[in-house]
Amino acid sequence: MQAVVRYLIEFLVRDAGAAQRVGYTSDPAEYARYALVVQPSGWLDQVAAPKRALLPDPFDFQGVPVLFGSPQITQIQGVCVVSADWVASAYYLLTRYEELQNPIRDAHGRFPGRESLLSRLHWLDRPLVEAYSRQLRSLLRQAGIPLAPLRPGIVTLTHDIDSARRFHNLRSLLGGIRRRHWRLLHESLYGRDPYAEWEGITRMDSALPWAKSRFFAHVAGRTGEAEDAACIPLQPADWLQSRHLDWGIHFSARAARNQDFLLSENEQLSQAVGHPSVSSRFHYLLLPGPEGWRAVEEAGITDDYSVGFADVPGFRMGTCRPVRYIEPTTGRLSSTLTLHPLALMDVTLSDYARLPFAEALTVAGDICRKACEEGGEAVLLWHNSSLAEGADGYHRSLYIQLLDSLALDGIGKPADSH
Ligand SMILES: [Zn+2]
Repeated sequence: MQAVVRYLIEFLVRDAGAAQRVGYTSDPAEYARYALVVQPSGWLDQVAAPKRALLPDPFDFQGVPVLFGSPQITQIQGVCVVSADWVASAYYLLTRYEELQNPIRDAHGRFPGRESLLSRLHWLDRPLVEAYSRQLRSLLRQAGIPLAPLRPGIVTLTHDIDSARRFHNLRSLLGGIRRRHWRLLHESLYGRDPYAEWEGITRMDSALPWAKSRFFAHVAGRTGEAEDAACIPLQPADWLQSRHLDWGIHFSARAARNQDFLLSENEQLSQAVGHPSVSSRFHYLLLPGPEGWRAVEEAGITDDYSVGFADVPGFRMGTCRPVRYIEPTTGRLSSTLTLHPLALMDVTLSDYARLPFAEALTVAGDICRKACEEGGEAVLLWHNSSLAEGADGYHRSLYIQLLDSLALDGIGKPADSH
């Protein structure tokens, strides 16, 4: 637990040197070694038993809900001692510990954002862990500790390719016929499939020239369960590779539930393209349990982009910054795997939150701005199917207008670019 506590303090302070001046102890004999001391609430001692561990009891600390400890702040022997346990609170949020304590799940087996503590606290659309970071940094500054400035934020545009074909099974084919999509049917069957317009997607992404693009492709032939066992194996892996684009594996829903599937999907990809993938996203944003995450590490994945809520936009881990994976019940800090929080998925706005276009554009823009203001990474997910010509215009137009407005405001633009 000591390694993860030091990591969390550094994550909150955002300055390795200054983090050395923060203690996490209730032993007054040690206070003099530090410029600031956070008193442990004792909650971290219970993490091995999620069912019995105390539920958070949020209290207001200078306008920010802290989950464990108390709002006391005192000076002892000239050292600022804070009883608001930011470390345990950050651990609770970053490990999604709540999802071990609360068994509620949606039809796909996902924890709903609307049921989350962050939703109850009205902190879904603001990164709560970054608020703890600001409080800690402010007290350190008051104690005369110099701090490195925050690094500017970035925007990462990601695309999941659930299917590389517009009419990929009998049901979608019949739907196309029923809606009389003759031109699309003809193009899909005999010409260029609108779902496989990869050049078109990269052209749209270039509206935000400083943003990174990343694709997640299925290679297992199945996206979810039997009902959507339909995508074309290995497409568009060859295309992505030939253009040196960043891409990773889109693990199926069953891989999230079963490590053997996960490892075999990864193996199939490695064999097919000659090298293993190092980044991943799970279909449906269905997160694996601790054993599944261990399999992700074992598969050689170093960066995962799955941790976001499907039903509401917002910061599922309370942060907008990439964070090392922490195993919730052991406190094991992964030495290889980094989680990149997902800020927003296309269908969240339409299918789940059911936002009208103008409101969706505002919500999407706000969340990107907030992530970048905190020096974080605004990760967006727009499926290839949402951006295809002839698809529902909502997502395609929203994406184009969103990138235009972010570009206009210079969101995620590196400080040294002109
Ligand atoms: Zn998917």
